[in-house]
Amino acid sequence: MARVTAGALTSPRNTIARATVSLLASLCLALSLVGCSGTGTIHEDGGDPDDVAAPTISGAVTLSPTRGVVHGGNLVMVGIAGLPDDLATMEVKARFGSADSVSCEFDNVVRQFACRATGHADPTSVDVVVNANGKDVTPAASYTYTTQGYEDMPVLTLDLAALQRNARVIEDDFPENLGLGVVLKNGEPVGAMAKAISEIGSVDYFFVPKLSDGIALREAGVTIPIAVIYLANTEDIPLMLHYNLEVAAKSVAWVERANAALESMQGELRVHLWIDTGFGPEGVTPDEALGLAKAIAASPHLKLRGIATHLCCVTKDDKKALKNNDLTNKTVLQKSRFDRTVAAIRDAGIGEGVLLHVGASDVLANDLEPLYYDMLRVGGMFFISDAASGELYSWKTSIKQVKKLPKGWCIDYGCETITTKATLVGLVGQIPLRDDPIAFVVRGKTVPVLLNHQTVVTLDLSSIPDAAEGDEVIIKFNPANDQLLDATPPLPVTLKK
Ligand SMILES: *Cc1c(COP(=O)(O)O)cnc(C)c1O
Repeated sequence: MARVTAGALTSPRNTIARATVSLLASLCLALSLVGCSGTGTIHEDGGDPDDVAAPTISGAVTLSPTRGVVHGGNLVMVGIAGLPDDLATMEVKARFGSADSVSCEFDNVVRQFACRATGHADPTSVDVVVNANGKDVTPAASYTYTTQGYEDMPVLTLDLAALQRNARVIEDDFPENLGLGVVLKNGEPVGAMAKAISEIGSVDYFFVPKLSDGIALREAGVTIPIAVIYLANTEDIPLMLHYNLEVAAKSVAWVERANAALESMQGELRVHLWIDTGFGPEGVTPDEALGLAKAIAASPHLKLRGIATHLCCVTKDDKKALKNNDLTNKTVLQKSRFDRTVAAIRDAGIGEGVLLHVGASDVLANDLEPLYYDMLRVGGMFFISDAASGELYSWKTSIKQVKKLPKGWCIDYGCETITTKATLVGLVGQIPLRDDPIAFVVRGKTVPVLLNHQTVVTLDLSSIPDAAEGDEVIIKFNPANDQLLDATPPLPVTLKK
């Protein structure tokens, strides 16, 4: 099996100890969002045995909280049990992973030390070593770095090995001589996801929704072509060229601005011509396409790399409709518009040999060969979380409060719904809204959501009469949709080790 960005994810330390610590940290996170602290004990080997001036310290070290954002800056309170009285004179430092130590400040009210977490390359867990008056405490605890998100939300743990398993299954079945483009719009950390997928080997292209994603992929070490699908601003051209990112040329005016911007630069900007064949978001209408193709072809600084469209309504019935060229079928209609537009462009002597890409996961899943062209752009299929083959993600919280609502109690503002019987409910908090419904599982049962205000979600626990505060709640993305990963912000994400 290919290693999952091994160099970036693990520092060359004791991996078993780290795995244990990170397991403890996950348990902590599962039990409570912020109330759990890591512990460790003092080792004497870090200090000078002759240093009689150092106060003797015995007992546990705690961190609160045990998680924070990957770029650092969060305050972490470090508690040291059994401290002597002259705490204020004590020098405490903390080292997060392999970063340089930071000095901590004594907070006389909390009687703990306030340390500012350093940044980390990846959203993973690291050991924290606390040093008090020259003595190391190791491991104090582990600290979990997450992607930028709302820090009160339960952390989602992403398993890159499972992502690679999905990738391998797709690649094993993938038609030969067909380009494989991978679309990454399932959220963060997008760079680490792309790196893990590209390590499997046969990916030809990445497609990302926005420029910052493309940059994240390059920063993560992705070297294959990357195209930004949606609207690209010409003022960002220096970055596009610097990171070797391809973009969509969206209008003749855009091409003119791009040419002006590129005049003083070396090198070409590679662009794709997206044609809107009847499903709105990306591209120009067929009427505008030839004019835009000509403008790109005439540009000394732009190079046409691909012509693309996106289909709205693929179903398994399309196979037959394609065979019969049934233009009442939406897919067939879109295909015919695409083919006609590409033919007109090529008749004008433009775009010979550029990549034609049209189909997504649904085209592959339904074997719609006439829609293969040169490359498919496959997204969703990579992000299915399947219990049978090992789940891609784990997202957990716990019940924060349990209460029994009497009969006749209002469920929401306006009191349009009331309880029809005394109802046991459990509260969980800070759950982001997703496009697709999410499911909450308590003690193996999916429980109904009575009311979702995001800040507080009220779960109907009627089916679990002995449910209690602190019970684990497993959160799943829409089961009807293969539990497709949606790790888009503001959800904080960490990588499983
Ligand atoms: C999302 C997207 C895809 C991938 O679609 P899936 O159904 O996730 O495979 C392909 N192309 C474009 C333009 C997209 O926006």
